Amino acid sequence: MEKIQNYINGKLVEPTSKTYLDNVNPAEGKVYSQIPDSDKVDVELAVTAAREAFSEWSSASIHFRTEVLNRIADLIDRDKDILAMAESVDNGKPVKLAQHVDIPRASANMRFYATAIQHFASESHQPDDQFINYTSRKAVGVAGCISPWNLPLYLFTWKIAPALAAGNTVVAKPSEITPMTAFLFSKLCVEAGLPAGVLNIVHGLGGKAGQAIIEHKDIPLISFTGGTETGKRIAATAAPMFKKLSLELGGKNPNIIFADCDFDSAVKTSVQSSFANQGQICLCGSRIFVERAIYDRFVKEFISRVDRLTVGDPSVEDVKVGAVVSEQHMNKVLNYIELAKDEGGKILTGGNQIKVKGRCENGFFIKPTVITNLSYNCRTNQEEIFGPVVTIMPFNKEEEVIEYANSTAYGLSATLWTENLKRAHRVSDKLKSGIIWVNCWLVRDLRTPFGGMKQSGVGREGGWEALRFFTEAKNVCINVK
Ligand code: NDP
Repeated sequence: MEKIQNYINGKLVEPTSKTYLDNVNPAEGKVYSQIPDSDKVDVELAVTAAREAFSEWSSASIHFRTEVLNRIADLIDRDKDILAMAESVDNGKPVKLAQHVDIPRASANMRFYATAIQHFASESHQPDDQFINYTSRKAVGVAGCISPWNLPLYLFTWKIAPALAAGNTVVAKPSEITPMTAFLFSKLCVEAGLPAGVLNIVHGLGGKAGQAIIEHKDIPLISFTGGTETGKRIAATAAPMFKKLSLELGGKNPNIIFADCDFDSAVKTSVQSSFANQGQICLCGSRIFVERAIYDRFVKEFISRVDRLTVGDPSVEDVKVGAVVSEQHMNKVLNYIELAKDEGGKILTGGNQIKVKGRCENGFFIKPTVITNLSYNCRTNQEEIFGPVVTIMPFNKEEEVIEYANSTAYGLSATLWTENLKRAHRVSDKLKSGIIWVNCWLVRDLRTPFGGMKQSGVGREGGWEALRFFTEAKNVCINVK
């Protein structure tokens, strides 16, 4: 059985304890590879390598860093089918989704920051003839990057690309549930000639290897994407150490459909924004609010489209919904469906596990589930479920739906559908979310700041924001008189 290896100081190595964890293919419910159960000894080795590599990498020419990162992007493009297949096997998502979204976005992340660093400028001010005050922004040191399982290579590269481009060295930990693409990525880094120690990947459990990264005194900045509860623990450890922190956390995103929308686009995209990646995208719209005038029509058309989604073997071409990521996660989602029933919810479709015939008969599949008859403030509508489950609720007035939409502890993204430009602007202004999509979903220019409000996170990634996060600003004020 294949053994995934850590990537430390430019080499693929075993964990020092020689112990491994099972890695399960969720579509088959079967162990298919093993992953290092790394601990703080491995993290120590990774930090030492990263510290030793820092001086040379941070002072290397921008041209050199650009070239190496672009070479890695080229290799991702070359191996895109292998990577997409690996991501599907690890995660349960349809191969087609990985081919069209995850892997192209991973190489786009590398390329974007490989070139963004060439245009990253800092400021100079001359208040009068007396002083020139300029700002220099330099790499900080060893960055700790921790990423989740839902978009494994995409979110992994989203962190490490700006960190490396800015001149930091990195100790990274992908989710233990989906480690394979990060392992393949480490091989591409070797092939691309990334200098030893610049990027180190330590596989293993969050509470062990992840926690050792967070606690390490020589890692002054942490970029984390994952659940809000984990984010709280990380902040509690890192804050008293005065580490620089970027936390991209959970969401419970509203999708608001006004009666004056382009109905067909709204329904079609809402099916996607509800169930893409089995609803396991932090930006999925899990609470749909529909203006009462079109509520019945919307529900009917939505259900008819959801029932046409093919659920099954993720490697099959026309499958739209694959397996959820693990048995434990499947049970969590199914428990939430039970909670919804206890809260008076009516299941219009789905609500159950699906048994897929053949190769995937032991896999973790849930039928896309649509629930109505719930109040906006019940637990089902307040807590993040992160699976193929959406609720639909009617509303009468704009102010009312804004209150519903803003009622959760989260504030990651929101979508609204209306042909009325003034309303689009007015409602966007009042929604407490880091991203608002009007008549679209999941499209984004990589130059824009990305991140959540409230308990969806602290700090912003993307564009210049990420390069600012991964650098330290210093002001120099010169008396020129
Ligand atoms: P988790 O918070 O469980 O884990 C995220 C990462 O943190 C994993 O690598 C995990 O390792 C690690 N980890 C867990 N505990 C610790 C710890 N004490 N110290 C350091 N690292 C730790 O999230 P999931 O992987 O379950 O991902 C799903 C969550 O991510 C959802 O809430 C989703 O909304 C959110 N998310 C947010 C996004 C955003 O941009 N805001 C984007 C995508 C997802 P291990 O897997 O081994 O436990």
